[in-house]
Amino acid sequence: MADVIIMGSGPAGISAALYTARAGLDTLVIGPVGGSLLKTNKIENYYGFAEPVSGKTLLENGTAQAERVGVMRLDGEVVGIAYDGQFAVSTASDTYRAPFAVLATGAARRAPKIPGLSDLEGRGVSYCAVCDAFFYRKKKVAVLGAGDYALHEALELLPVASNVTILTDGEKPAADFPEDFTVETKKISSLEGGATLEGVQFEDGSRLETAGLFVALGVAGSVDLARKLGAQTKGTAIAVDEHRQTNIPGLYAAGDCTGGLLQISKAVCDGAVAGTSIVKAFRAAKH
Ligand SMILES: Cc1cc2nc3c(=O)[nH]c(=O)nc-3n(C[C@H](O)[C@H](O)[C@H](O)COP(=O)(O)OP(=O)(O)OC[C@H]3O[C@@H](n4cnc5c(N)ncnc54)[C@H](O)[C@@H]3O)c2cc1C
Repeated sequence: MADVIIMGSGPAGISAALYTARAGLDTLVIGPVGGSLLKTNKIENYYGFAEPVSGKTLLENGTAQAERVGVMRLDGEVVGIAYDGQFAVSTASDTYRAPFAVLATGAARRAPKIPGLSDLEGRGVSYCAVCDAFFYRKKKVAVLGAGDYALHEALELLPVASNVTILTDGEKPAADFPEDFTVETKKISSLEGGATLEGVQFEDGSRLETAGLFVALGVAGSVDLARKLGAQTKGTAIAVDEHRQTNIPGLYAAGDCTGGLLQISKAVCDGAVAGTSIVKAFRAAKH
């Protein structure tokens, strides 16, 4: 068990980890070395570099800096989070627990551009299996995705729904889906429905009848994870207070996932505020 689990190893997550680890808290960061910074090779507006620096260099230096001060780092993908007196953060293979958690997995991704999808959000299209599975008891549902996150969402639905189909929308399955699931790799052309979702239309002209479509493309984003705990969001950003705490006590969020200025300096500042706030709350809880 750790004292704090940080999801995401970009500037926000690593900055938070530096503060908590240096204050003596057992700090686990889960995430690959990647994210927005890998897409840029010339940063000229971050303090302290006389010459332009690449995002890759910043990431590698940040990771080495964190490991030097004792941060435990796991090169994994978070697929789920729950609260049972502590935060239980799941990857495809394990679950890790801590009394404090930080969401720092970067900016929200755009919703997939499938005709009908945005119109049917909340009326059959869902982004959170643990939140909405109950509404689909004994009904046919589908999960849109091809990786470990899709598998995690499908496993949440399996005990409740009558049947769960995985729709990869043309992608090759990237997770080992058990035989409980039908995996359909055909490209989707549109979603159909009136008041609620009724079916999925494929490009080859075939159709799948389904009452629910759970979107779990790629990896889980911060907002997807926040929703699983009922944390408040503002559009595509997670709502936080001045300590970067969400409305869920002990759950913090930092960096691009909280919106505002999408820059390294703001992500590092958010991480520092979240980290120092957690240290304060951790010490207060011990006394
Ligand atoms: C092309 C481009 C150029 C940019 N140029 C600049 C610039 O010049 N100056 C500047 O200040 N800013 C720039 N930015 C913005 C800057 O990169 C971001 O503001 C900053 O990286 C945000 O940090 P973050 O830690 O919040 O998120 P990120 O850097 O995106 O880090 C999020 C981390 O979370 C990981 N992650 C995602 N999902 C999961 C999951 N389910 N489980 C575990 N880990 C997960 C990601 O892999 C990543 O490692 C640029 C961005 C882009 C895209």
